[in-house]
Parts: sequence; C-alpha cells; structure tokens
Amino acid sequence: MMHAFNPEYQNQQIEGKIVVALERISQAFRVLLWQEGKENALTPIQLQILLFIKFHESEKCKVNYLAKEFNLTKATISETVRLLSKKKLIYKETDPTDTRSYSIYLTEKGGEISTKSSSFAGALEKPIHTFSETQKEILYQSLLELIEKLNRAGIITVQRMCFSCRFYQPGKESDYCKLLKKELYKPDLRVDCPEHEIAV
Ligand code: SF4
Repeated sequence: MMHAFNPEYQNQQIEGKIVVALERISQAFRVLLWQEGKENALTPIQLQILLFIKFHESEKCKVNYLAKEFNLTKATISETVRLLSKKKLIYKETDPTDTRSYSIYLTEKGGEISTKSSSFAGALEKPIHTFSETQKEILYQSLLELIEKLNRAGIITVQRMCFSCRFYQPGKESDYCKLLKKELYKPDLRVDCPEHEIAV
C-alpha cells in the first residue's frame, strides 16, 4: 500500500518525506516532554497543562477549552486536573457568573515546576538557531500554512494564529494587524497570540 510510511512511496513523493519528517519531530517533542516530566513524576499531558496554564489567561484555563486545545475528552482533562490538584500543583476557582465552571491556576509549587520545565523546548530551538534568516522565514511560513490547513480540515481544533484572526488583513508587501495597528512582516505573524479573536 502506498502511504507516507512506505519508503517506496516516500522516494517518489516529497510530500510523504515531509510527513515522515514531521512525525520524527513530534517524536522528539514527546521524548523531551517525557524526560522533563519524569523528574517531577509528571506525565506529558500533566506537564503540557501546567505549561499552558502558566502562559495563558484564566478564561482559557477551563476544562472545556483545555479539552479542545489538546484534542482530548473533557473526562480525560478533568482526571488530569484532579491528579495535578492532588499533587498540589494547581487549584480551582469557581466562575462567579457560572458555578458549574471553574478556572485553573498554578500553586506556588506548580509555578516553580512549570518555570523550570518550560526550558525543555530549548533542545528543539537550538538547531533552528543555526538556520539562516531566510530558511527560518520559509520554514515558519510553511508551518503556519500547514497549521491553518489542518485547522480547516478539523484536525487541529484550536489555534490562535493571525490567519484565522478577525484583526488580520493580508497585504502584498506585508500583512496588517487592525488591533495592534502595525504591519506584520512574515516573522511577525503570530502562532499563539493572546489578543487573537476568531474571524467569523
Ligand atoms: S490580534 Fe494577534 S492574531 Fe490577530 S492579527 Fe493581530 S497579531 Fe495576529
């Protein structure tokens, strides 16, 4: 059968080689997450949730949003939250406007672990520093377009990038952000923007 993991297919199609290369990179990401989590007896998803809470506003740190963000069921997220709470790394605060909903916050210990752990991505960043500026721009632009297409196909459910933002305005030389009122050259395009609002 001809598919991306068949070397015979890969040798004929660059698309297949790219898919396999992306799979290797995602494997590197998983290995680094496991290694980093092991030190604090955390699973990759527990560590990912701690890191997400550290860097995102409380509105996004809710079970529903986290389930979409990580493509997991609400039951799995709730169980992960329960275990993190048992380890005293997070605490919950009920939403005053909706008592069935709560936001999740880091405790002091959770904050310390997530700060220390956030450096794990440095191992992936290091080789990218050796690329030329042009190589980095082409790679970044291609990844953004790939994420957008996977989002449109319903494979990546949540993304907060310029291409799907209501403030984004494409242009010839550069694009434009109507909220920040600034030109967006290729390296300025954001992949996880706190101001992102989905275009309707
Ligand atoms: S608000 Fe953020 S995501 Fe939206 S266009 Fe501006 S920079 Fe991009």
